[in-house]
Amino acid sequence: MRFALVLLAVGVILPAQTRSRKAHEHGSAKVNIAFETAKGAPKGVVEFESPADSVVGFEYEAKTPADKAKVTAALNTLKARFGEMVIFPPAAACKLTAKSAKMEAEHHDGKQKGKQEQHSEVHAEFDIACAKPLSGLEIRFGFTKVFPKIHDVDVALLVGEQQSSADVENDKGVLKIAK
Ligand SMILES: [Zn+2]
Repeated sequence: MRFALVLLAVGVILPAQTRSRKAHEHGSAKVNIAFETAKGAPKGVVEFESPADSVVGFEYEAKTPADKAKVTAALNTLKARFGEMVIFPPAAACKLTAKSAKMEAEHHDGKQKGKQEQHSEVHAEFDIACAKPLSGLEIRFGFTKVFPKIHDVDVALLVGEQQSSADVENDKGVLKIAK
């Protein structure tokens, strides 16, 4: 399956990115976008990763019904409004479909785990299908309108074998898709 190759390629990029910055930095997030091609009707995958603090508002394990409801609401907002955060070019008529969104505790090896030390991350995956080519178009961003705490985002784009990236601060930054 050719699509599996795209996913595999994303998996190869991720570790290098993680090494280049602190893995868990409040206020930051990572977005990985991969398309097999920008031509025709491009299909791809988008991965989102952020400390839960920015999305949910806390990182401890939700145990009360109120906290569990907050987690569910935040993840639903992430899924429903992701298109406002990563804004694909309107000319390409892309459609995002949320595949998964979850909050997971971060495990620190060899560190004393106290209650204050608890950190969690939010991971989400989306499928994207565009009706028209993406070649030469631009991806824009609007994280802070949905989640005001997300102000520094590393975005990586893979189209076929062509890789590009953007450091998006306070939604400023544009990712150009090669022709
Ligand atoms: Zn944290």
